[in-house]
Amino acid sequence: MGLMIYNSLTNKIEEFKPINGNKVNMYVCGPTVYNYIHIGNARPVIFYDMLKRYLKFLGYEVNYASNITDVDDKIINKAIQEGKTEKEVAKFFEDAYFDAVEKVGSKKPDLIPHATDYINEMIDFISKLVEKGYAYNVDGDVFFRVGKVSDYGILSNQVQEDLESGARINVNDKKENPLDFALWKKTDEGIKWSSPFGEGRPGWHTECVVMNHKLFGDVLDIHGGGMDLKFPHHENEIAQSNALYHNHLAKYWIHVGRLDLAGAKMSKSLGNVIYVKDLDNKVDGMILRSLIVFSPYRSIIQYSEELLNQYKKEYEKWQRTYKMCLYELQYRGLLSDKIDEDDISKFKEYMNQDFNVQNVLTLITTIVKEMNTLLRSKDFDKLALKLNTFITILDVLGINLFIDKLDDEKCNVYKLWNEARNNKDFEAADKYRNQLVEWNVL
Ligand SMILES: [Zn+2]
Repeated sequence: MGLMIYNSLTNKIEEFKPINGNKVNMYVCGPTVYNYIHIGNARPVIFYDMLKRYLKFLGYEVNYASNITDVDDKIINKAIQEGKTEKEVAKFFEDAYFDAVEKVGSKKPDLIPHATDYINEMIDFISKLVEKGYAYNVDGDVFFRVGKVSDYGILSNQVQEDLESGARINVNDKKENPLDFALWKKTDEGIKWSSPFGEGRPGWHTECVVMNHKLFGDVLDIHGGGMDLKFPHHENEIAQSNALYHNHLAKYWIHVGRLDLAGAKMSKSLGNVIYVKDLDNKVDGMILRSLIVFSPYRSIIQYSEELLNQYKKEYEKWQRTYKMCLYELQYRGLLSDKIDEDDISKFKEYMNQDFNVQNVLTLITTIVKEMNTLLRSKDFDKLALKLNTFITILDVLGINLFIDKLDDEKCNVYKLWNEARNNKDFEAADKYRNQLVEWNVL
């Protein structure tokens, strides 16, 4: 059995089978670039990066797209506040976003579509929806006619009548139905484009569908995002795709749970936001990554400093063991590129169970203990196998220990130090030791 993964569209754990052989097309909703990202926003950034790494490890070819929403009321407001153009605001926070992506050890997606590069396509798309009766124009605002799509609510498991009775009714609303959503927004302030409906800008729900279709042409294998995007954003993406292309946009819809501060939702107005940019360095980014990677991806994380410290201790333990074993093997010329097949098959077995990361963590802890035992008993061949297995697994999870092999000079002194100790030449051993300490090797 291959990878089993929870599909939000069917509410079932299903076997992952891409549409075209071993090619996987994946789209994940990216940020609206008007502010720095906080550690809750980093959760999908880390999870989908890990998902891509794992799919590649299984032998799939993955094409991963994540968009930048560079037009939005929030960006327009920020630009007005700061006396800048929307483009300047968006560019600044996009750069900050990718700094944060790097800090938590994620790679840039393969494709990074920007909403403002697809305005013509969006206008075409909306025109077609209007032509087919799925959308209507009221004084320059264009809305999607939700009632015309039979299975609206399929992703969020809600029936239209319940949604309607729960929807807020605004007396000034120009909509036929409170559930209808904006495809094109007439704008008086800020950046705008001309269209057959009048001057304005596209709605967020339309951006993602159009970019998806433009980049991948047909049904995606995976559409991802945070749990909070399920409704209305993803539901509305599906409704539009259903109207024009008669499909649900993606075969697998995957959602990642929220990260809350223990007992409270992170919010700017409450003043309890932790930004990724404020993490001290890349090691702190990696510790946050470990916390996120080893938390079941569909559950809410209750973040606290104690929880982070648990992962910090674990991470530092891994660094110490890895460093010691690496140098000992390296100077003896015993490093191996082989893996322990049993450990790797256990790793796959756990990951394939809809990402049973807690079992993966237990497996890693066991391997680290074994490495320490093998080092003490000087069973170097077996240690070499375990060391390479350990680092292979961490690499799939995107966890970097930031410890490199020694260069030739340092490796030589490391060897001399060990030889001096074995020969009980303490004076020489001390000299080499001091040198190694000075180089930060010990
Ligand atoms: Zn989206």
